[in-house]
Amino acid sequence: MPEANPFESLQEQIGDAGEFLDVGDDVLERLKHPERVLETTLSVEMDDGTIETFKAFRSQFNGDRGPYKGGIRYHPGVTRDEVKALSGWMVYKTSVVDIPYGGGKGGIVIDPSEYSEGELERITRAFAAELRPFIGEDKDVPAPDVNTGQREMNWIKDTYETLENTTAPGVITGKALENGGSEGRVEATGRSTMFAAREIFDYLDRDLEGATVAVQGYGNAGSVAAKLIDDQGADVVAVSDSSGAIHNPDGFDTRAVKDFKNETGSVTGYDEATEEFSNGDLLTMDVDLLVPAALENAVDEDLARDVEADVVVEAANGPLTPDADDVLTERGVTVVPDILANAGGVTVSYFEWVQNRQRFQWTEERVNEELEAVITDAFDAMTDAHEDAGTPNLRTAAYVVAVQRVVDAYDGSGSWP
Ligand code: GLU
Repeated sequence: MPEANPFESLQEQIGDAGEFLDVGDDVLERLKHPERVLETTLSVEMDDGTIETFKAFRSQFNGDRGPYKGGIRYHPGVTRDEVKALSGWMVYKTSVVDIPYGGGKGGIVIDPSEYSEGELERITRAFAAELRPFIGEDKDVPAPDVNTGQREMNWIKDTYETLENTTAPGVITGKALENGGSEGRVEATGRSTMFAAREIFDYLDRDLEGATVAVQGYGNAGSVAAKLIDDQGADVVAVSDSSGAIHNPDGFDTRAVKDFKNETGSVTGYDEATEEFSNGDLLTMDVDLLVPAALENAVDEDLARDVEADVVVEAANGPLTPDADDVLTERGVTVVPDILANAGGVTVSYFEWVQNRQRFQWTEERVNEELEAVITDAFDAMTDAHEDAGTPNLRTAAYVVAVQRVVDAYDGSGSWP
């Protein structure tokens, strides 16, 4: 089976929501395409003096509700269509949690593990210089994504501010605390995943305490989600990364697994594991809760038939293909969609941007409390839409809420000749 194109998946998800909305096909069509995509080739000097070129993208999908917002990923698998899809998911993510942003996304086609820190800094600054005319506190605000973090955000902020001869910390979020970052930002994606898990178990009248959990991916999203879900009293019995999966039916010490991965580079080889298997085996384990926290298309139609979890909470962006979604809906598996479950990252990015603009720092307690309110309100709006509109699943319900808000903003703006 050919791999699903994430951009086509996004368009299908918007179309599915359209069936439950009183929105014309012309308006809906507009919401299925990015407003613009920057494609650029970065030429950067390597440590050995040679020049290497890298393809990079920034997609600005929709700005009806505010500045474009979304991360920048460094990955060899980055494509134009992937960035377009990810930027569209950001539009509906910022909308479903009702923060005043549109959606954007960027990426460089690169395996960052193959480059020195100095090379990565030059590559990042080259991209920031290309992005400079298109970004800004009120235009487009990038952030971290797969394989990028505080270090890269600091470099982008510094490049932008130097070239613009100003201070504008709100041009980018996910910075280190010392460079204008926010308390709670690093853990925010995993924290909203935990809130989403807690809310859905409550909605389904099930206990998260004592529930068995499998987490695919042990990066920033997966490892924090695992830790915080573990703190809710659940048993994280399996975790994985690109090296493979580890299992222990009694549950892992999720913090110790993270320490082990930090030391060795992977979760496999951890001595408390009773067995090791593949990511595919982890995704089809008989657990109460499955948290895909890696990349798109982790579960396709075929694999979906073998998924044995009762509940899936998506920490990654786009981990289920639309065909997989259909199979899970048919099989009665409840899925809390990415645009809500992992929206903690962009929500705390919003708090960071607000703090930057106010030149006023919030406490971690305030950040986490406000995040909880945003995610639980969005969860309630999604389940209300599910019940009121009778959507087949929660993803379509989340899109019904999100698309309607974008349409309302567009309608309210009037037309431009
Ligand atoms: N990359 C994250 C996401 O996919 C965060 C984006 C942001 O903070 O702007 O939601």
